[in-house]
Amino acid sequence: LVEMRGVQKYFGQMQALKDIDLNVQKGEVVVVIGPSGSGKSTLCRTINRLETIDDGVIFIDGKELPQEGKALAAHRAEVGMVFQSFNLFAHKTILENVTLGPIKVRGMNKAEAEAKARELLDRVGVAHQAAKYPAQLSGGQQQRVAIARALAMEPKVMLFDEPTSALDPEMIKEVLDVMIDLAGRGMTMIVVTHEMGFARTAANRVVFMADGAIVEEGTPEEFFTNPKSDRAKDFLGKIL
Ligand code: ATP
Ligand code: MG
Repeated sequence: LVEMRGVQKYFGQMQALKDIDLNVQKGEVVVVIGPSGSGKSTLCRTINRLETIDDGVIFIDGKELPQEGKALAAHRAEVGMVFQSFNLFAHKTILENVTLGPIKVRGMNKAEAEAKARELLDRVGVAHQAAKYPAQLSGGQQQRVAIARALAMEPKVMLFDEPTSALDPEMIKEVLDVMIDLAGRGMTMIVVTHEMGFARTAANRVVFMADGAIVEEGTPEEFFTNPKSDRAKDFLGKIL
């Protein structure tokens, strides 16, 4: 469903992505881990074209990622993204946060968008907060709203960039549970996280990055119990 071939990305002289080949199947959950600065966020950001690429190609569901124009907006609608900092619209209610995209981008009518939003807010456990503003919610609740907002666009793939790392410990689980539920429903997901419990429970594959390259990949079982590269061994030694 997501295919990256020979993707290169530079920031000035610095090469942030080195010859990335990554193929994510429909329904697959891929966890991306690696040291700070290894290119994990950049990888996510190229997939929804928040960053351009300097070489290579990216296909989403068989279609090449357009670089600009109307086709790009349509493409973005297919790729949901959840960030570390929830990025909700502060001056809109929770309900409006979730209905805005479907109304503006998908052309859905208001009643339909609201019905859908309420269903999604219920699914992520914040239905009773619909009339509030983001600042009135806890971090964990805001992040669950951010997930509902992304899902409201009916994306083909969901990208998560360290979705729990800005949260207090007691809120991490409620967000991970929503993500595990989503994985169980067959959503295709690319998840940057250091939550090994999530990786073991929900991931089909772990991709380990270092210095802008994919150094190693395998099932969570293989990767955590028997990492092959020194870089991965060293990294796991530090975080486990
Ligand atoms: P972290 O775990 O800290 O989030 P990361 O693996 O997500 O790290 P990236 O944010 O993808 O790493 O950054 C990869 C490299 O690209 C880093 O060296 C970073 O400094 C650099 N970089 C990222 N964004 C930019 C930018 N907009 N301009 C210049 N350099 C950038
Ligand atoms: Mg990052």
